[in-house]
Amino acid sequence: MSLLSQPEAFQQALADWYASAQRPLPWRTAPSLYKTVVSELMAQQTQIKTMLPYFDRWLKRFPDFVALADAPSDDVLKHWEGLGYYSRARNLHKLAKEYVALETKPTTAKEWQALPGIGPYTSAAISSIAQNVPAAVVDGNVVRILARLTNDDRAFKNNGDAVKAFTPTADTVLNHDTPGDHNQAMMELGATICQKANPLCTVCPVVQFCAAAAAGTQEGIPNIQRKAIQQVQIDRVWIVQDDKLLLHRIPDDAKQLAGQYELPATTHFDETPKLGKALATKSRGITNKRIKETIYPLKSPISALKSQVSPLPSQVSALKPPPSQLHWIALDQLDIITLSGPHRRWTKELLKQRL
Ligand code: SF4
Repeated sequence: MSLLSQPEAFQQALADWYASAQRPLPWRTAPSLYKTVVSELMAQQTQIKTMLPYFDRWLKRFPDFVALADAPSDDVLKHWEGLGYYSRARNLHKLAKEYVALETKPTTAKEWQALPGIGPYTSAAISSIAQNVPAAVVDGNVVRILARLTNDDRAFKNNGDAVKAFTPTADTVLNHDTPGDHNQAMMELGATICQKANPLCTVCPVVQFCAAAAAGTQEGIPNIQRKAIQQVQIDRVWIVQDDKLLLHRIPDDAKQLAGQYELPATTHFDETPKLGKALATKSRGITNKRIKETIYPLKSPISALKSQVSPLPSQVSALKPPPSQLHWIALDQLDIITLSGPHRRWTKELLKQRL
């Protein structure tokens, strides 16, 4: 059976499967427009199982658009701590403020795109799921499913080109009666069955429509050029004195992680510190970057440090630090500030070793 010649049969097979296989997620079991918006922004760069505890905590603290709009930004960032890609939290905060102020609320995918942090994918997801608007979502997951179903091995330079190319197909197969469920079913199929590596074709509910599965070509599809991997090395220092840890605050105008704390890198000092034996080495990947970070202990501050470090903020002012970028933070105040996710983990680990 071909997908494009029988879109209704495909929609039905997908819907039957989704009705029994969908995961009971909090924004599905007790849905609301606000929950859909929060879940869609949180899910932009994060796996569902990772975001679940954050979602619950967020809903407890900011139960609706008004509560979020009224919250101070430090509080919003603190509740996002550990999820990464903090521009999503800032956008969600701005979105809530704008949404609350709007006299006429958005009811189409295009209108949603006028709000901060909402692109074509998220606007289609929100308007279809919460407002039953017939807008098809198209992201990497949907591209993968559609390319395999149609056995389309065209080469694409990047994800954006592939999304553009498969948008008409996504529109053709969209179920206009239940667009929200259809879109969620596509996302669920991509996340749990039609995965990048080792797609589970033997249990796939739409295998009868899949030209790639019939041809045995599914593993190589879609054919999207990978970005070259970039290796990055960062040397960081660990300085604890008088029960205070020296941290670097990322400037407010930084593109990423603005306002958050991290262990200082050697480049944050006017004078390069002399490094001895490493305390720990950490590796992580962010998009196409492989980042290796080595943390070195420093017993006493280097000479130039004194003039660079701002006075220790008080318990209250820790949330509104002074403009200089290096700060002594008392160890018992570390929970008050927002440390970027990996730095929170490393700090905990290194403090444990110290005890
Ligand atoms: S049959 Fe396999 S390749 Fe085709 S859509 Fe299902 S999981 Fe994906």
